[in-house]
Amino acid sequence: MNDYHENLGQDDMITKQKRFQFLRRATADSLLWRLLAESLPEHKGKYAAAIAAMIMVAATTALSAWVMGKIVDAMSDTQNKEHLYGVAAIVFLIFMAKGVASFAQTVLMARAGNRIVAEKQILLFKHLLSQGIAFFNTTESSDLLLRVTQSAQMARNVIDVVVTGFVRDSLTLIGLVAVMFYQQPILSLIALVVGPAAVIGVRLILGKVRVIMAQEMAGLTEIIKVVQETSTGARVIKAFALEDIMQKRMNSAVRDVEKRSNKMVRLESATSPLMDTLTGAAIASIVLLSSISIAGQSAGTPGQLMSFVTAFLMAYEPAKRLSRMRVTIEAGMMGVRMMYNLLDQPINLSEAPDACELAVGPGEVTLDHVSFGYAGDTSVIRNLNLTFEAGKTTALVGPSGAGKSTILNLILRLYDPVEGAVRIDGQDIRKATFPSLRQKIAFVGQDTFLFSNTVMGNLRVARPEATDEEVFEAARVAYAHDFIESLPNGYRTPIGENGAFLSGGQRQRLSITRAILRRAPILLLDEATSALDSQSEAYIRDALESVSAGVTTIVIAHRLATVMNADRIIYLETGQVTEQGTLQELLAKGGAFKKLYETQFRNG
Ligand code: ATP
Repeated sequence: MNDYHENLGQDDMITKQKRFQFLRRATADSLLWRLLAESLPEHKGKYAAAIAAMIMVAATTALSAWVMGKIVDAMSDTQNKEHLYGVAAIVFLIFMAKGVASFAQTVLMARAGNRIVAEKQILLFKHLLSQGIAFFNTTESSDLLLRVTQSAQMARNVIDVVVTGFVRDSLTLIGLVAVMFYQQPILSLIALVVGPAAVIGVRLILGKVRVIMAQEMAGLTEIIKVVQETSTGARVIKAFALEDIMQKRMNSAVRDVEKRSNKMVRLESATSPLMDTLTGAAIASIVLLSSISIAGQSAGTPGQLMSFVTAFLMAYEPAKRLSRMRVTIEAGMMGVRMMYNLLDQPINLSEAPDACELAVGPGEVTLDHVSFGYAGDTSVIRNLNLTFEAGKTTALVGPSGAGKSTILNLILRLYDPVEGAVRIDGQDIRKATFPSLRQKIAFVGQDTFLFSNTVMGNLRVARPEATDEEVFEAARVAYAHDFIESLPNGYRTPIGENGAFLSGGQRQRLSITRAILRRAPILLLDEATSALDSQSEAYIRDALESVSAGVTTIVIAHRLATVMNADRIIYLETGQVTEQGTLQELLAKGGAFKKLYETQFRNG
């Protein structure tokens, strides 16, 4: 009984594996078709010209084998000068035409290929930009980097191999085989017996290449990841003396890739000795057979034999490429799979098809029966009703993990509620276009992201059309102007990667300058003061007060001053409002807020 079950299990496994292999092959093939169907028709002009050049290459290659016979015949009859000159001229013309056609084919294929790479990379990046925050939370940047930079290139290689293989190599092979049969039909039949043997040999190698290629890609991703983490986490690495660990990670990733690359080359090149040996055996047998038939008076002229042997030798290269075509395609399909994998990722947060501009209003923000969880559940916020009054400052307080930042994320529409709606002046923000929604909101987060640009360039992202004077004015209000002026090139100082030479307070003041420059009716502040000295904190407090005047401000409050200045305080606990009111009201109530006030704020 047990045996029966075990066997059943095994059979089941084998069937499953077979089905899996079949599916894998089927998807690989369907992806290949998809790649070709998307790319070739769009560039049909370029490919048509390249294919015409390839036909020319194939024809001239076959002709060059054919003309060898004529050369031998002409050389053995040097008395006939006219014939000799004619053959010389034909040889010259054939080889010149072959050279021109090869050049045209290479340039035209490269142009079409480079265009496809450029288009696919733009498409990949566009898709990336349209993704919601949830996508970036779960996808590693090193993986994205590799996908955008490498996969399009690999897809182009696949197209190159397919077009060149099916057109140039196949036609060349057909032309050369035709020359062989024309010159020596019986010897040709014998020579062709070696073909299938070679194909079987190459097929055996095929299965392994795909697996190694996938592992190699994983290794490359790891290398990028280690370099990226070393650059962004340099301070932590130094502070915790993690150099050895990082070096070990890098060493192991690099060695892995080295090993895989060697294995890959070994496998790919394994086809060469196989084919070379078979070709050698074939030529040797032909030499023997031809001598027999010459003795039996049935062979053609020396010219015909020469032409036949030349065609046979020339057929080796295209035949080799064709027999390896599947292997090369398999290796490249890894990139194609990676590319479509990214392109087919559904966009989890998109603009409604009938989205319209968010109408300008006083800036009242409402959470209407909102439930939300990051995993599509309702674990973070459940049935929350909240109104942030227009033009007023509301402080959000509560223990860590209560859902304060989540509320800001929902107002920014970085995520959509699972149930209920977020409204601005009564309008559901899911029905608004992204630009019109985000123009109404200025956001100052805990960490300020700075682009590799000048200070001015970094500030202008908030409002590209702002004049220099407007930027200076905003910086003055944010107490940033003086320190910017003291930088080596003032506003024109390049900030470098994420402003590493600026202090935490300076970075935050730049962030506030951006918010002021935005002139948005709603201001979201994720206040962070723990990293700041009291001088910077005082600057920032003053700066924020001047920004929030008359603006609907929602601030995650960590400082007593913010709580005291707020028009209203909302106390959150596990996604629920447990207390709300003015400072006095909440203190009088003597609940959780009062406790927090007494422990955290008063000491602060
Ligand atoms: P803090 O004061 O510590 O910043 P918070 O009140 O702002 O806390 P949130 O950041 O809103 O709290 O987090 C609420 C809950 O949601 C927490 O349990 C947190 O673990 C979870 N959470 C936050 N961001 C994500 C995310 N991107 N993916 C999954 N879960 C998240």
